[in-house]
Amino acid sequence: MLQARDSYIAGRPWGICDRCGFKYRHDTLRKEWSGALVCSADYDPPPRDMYPPRLTVEGAPIPDARPDPTVVPFGFIIDEYGLPITDENLAGIEDAP
Ligand SMILES: [Zn+2]
Repeated sequence: MLQARDSYIAGRPWGICDRCGFKYRHDTLRKEWSGALVCSADYDPPPRDMYPPRLTVEGAPIPDARPDPTVVPFGFIIDEYGLPITDENLAGIEDAP
């Protein structure tokens, strides 16, 4: 006499575990990283070395970057308002009495 767990169920075929060889429902078997179809007890998660960490490129330009408006480039002289003094401004200062 067939037991209920060994009986035929439409749409749920049997499958054989590639590792232990026991019979399970095919939809309960899992495909491993190695390609083997195994039961949940024999499932071996993929080794961590298979998925190395994602590395980013150092020194890559930032898209749509803007210069910091509060930073005055080196070598510039700024006035009391924090604005860089250009040659045009210097010419005006020198001409002033
Ligand atoms: Zn198994």
